[in-house]
Amino acid sequence: MIYADVLIVGGGPSGLTAAKMCCEAGLSTIIVERSHILGGQLTKQTHKFFGSKDQYAKMRGIDIAVKLQEDLASFNTLTMMLETTVVGLYEDKVVTILQHNEYKKIKAKAIILATGASEKFLAFENNDLPQIVGAGALQTLVNLYQVIPGKSMVMIGSGNIGLIVSYQMLQAGIEVKKVIEATDRIGGYKVHASKLKRLGVDIQTRKTIKRAIGKDQLEAVEIVRIDENFQEIEGTSEIIETDLLCVSVGLSPLHQLASMMNCKTTYISELGGYVPLIDDHFQCSVPGVFACGDMVGIEEASSAMMEGYLAGLYTCNYLNQPHLEAESLISHYENQLYELRNGLFGRKTLRGIEKRKENLIHA
Ligand SMILES: Cc1cc2nc3c(=O)[nH]c(=O)nc-3n(C[C@H](O)[C@H](O)[C@H](O)COP(=O)(O)OP(=O)(O)OC[C@H]3O[C@@H](n4cnc5c(N)ncnc54)[C@H](O)[C@@H]3O)c2cc1C
Repeated sequence: MIYADVLIVGGGPSGLTAAKMCCEAGLSTIIVERSHILGGQLTKQTHKFFGSKDQYAKMRGIDIAVKLQEDLASFNTLTMMLETTVVGLYEDKVVTILQHNEYKKIKAKAIILATGASEKFLAFENNDLPQIVGAGALQTLVNLYQVIPGKSMVMIGSGNIGLIVSYQMLQAGIEVKKVIEATDRIGGYKVHASKLKRLGVDIQTRKTIKRAIGKDQLEAVEIVRIDENFQEIEGTSEIIETDLLCVSVGLSPLHQLASMMNCKTTYISELGGYVPLIDDHFQCSVPGVFACGDMVGIEEASSAMMEGYLAGLYTCNYLNQPHLEAESLISHYENQLYELRNGLFGRKTLRGIEKRKENLIHA
């Protein structure tokens, strides 16, 4: 058995920032990360972030990932376990990990869950053909491993991720033939959409994919116009030849480890799906288990980092070893979160957070 004060599951932006607070307070901390690198989604994000300096604005995601790791470099109370997956979590805070084909156990006084999210997908004919990928997978291939999987692409989904990834594919030399959106408006920031339009990319609303066409791999897609009830309008079918289709229709919080520990979860559409119910201190319904980042509600890396700092600070308080600057840091990061959620996109998140609170009271 390996012992630690705090175990953090997930080495993305929220897990790394939580670790910084725990280490600064002198707690022995373990980060378990299933990938071979730390940084989570940031490791593929070649674009610059928005926001303020405190929210790492104007830095590229890949550089933020490096900065967050540099922040942790001097702590000898920190253990990082890469290529290690948490596969079991039990109420007595014993955790089973799988590391290089070997099962081991960790017992921690507190656990911070920071597992992020998984991509949603769409049901349509032939959706299992090779060359049909999610936005995260496509970013991994192109931005992380420099593999160019196609000559041309159709993107389904015009949220920020769909728009950003379309732009990155243009930068990589892939022709983006169309961005298709089922609702009546472009979902992401206007600035991202405008960049694509200036480069000649056609963004079409009220359309969806009906089927993928191809024998051994994708050759074309059939796109149809839909009405306000998302039903196909007859006679509007269009065949677009392409060898790559990217589906970017949202993310679902990875809540499963929280459920495994009997932490109460509920479905909140504004937060992306099932989420653990957390209190104002990021604590789940099982005492000593905290959760932050995309797994408690889909937002952005900027807010995931602020949540990570806060979850780390509250974990230190829970273990009666508060961070020396706890009070001022908590107020600072709460303010940053407030600012981040103050915009147009924040309203939906705030509605979701309200619902999460109400569900916790009635749980
Ligand atoms: C294409 C794309 C573009 C984006 N662009 C922006 C942007 O411009 N600005 C912005 O602010 N945000 C952006 N985001 C959102 C941002 O990346 C996420 O909100 C953020 O990464 C969430 O951080 P996280 O730490 O919660 O999760 P993640 O970054 O997903 O990290 C979770 C980590 O947990 C690990 N993990 C999961 N389960 C286990 C397990 N059982 N055992 C061990 N490890 C585990 C994963 O491997 C991963 O490394 C973008 C997202 C995408 C997909």
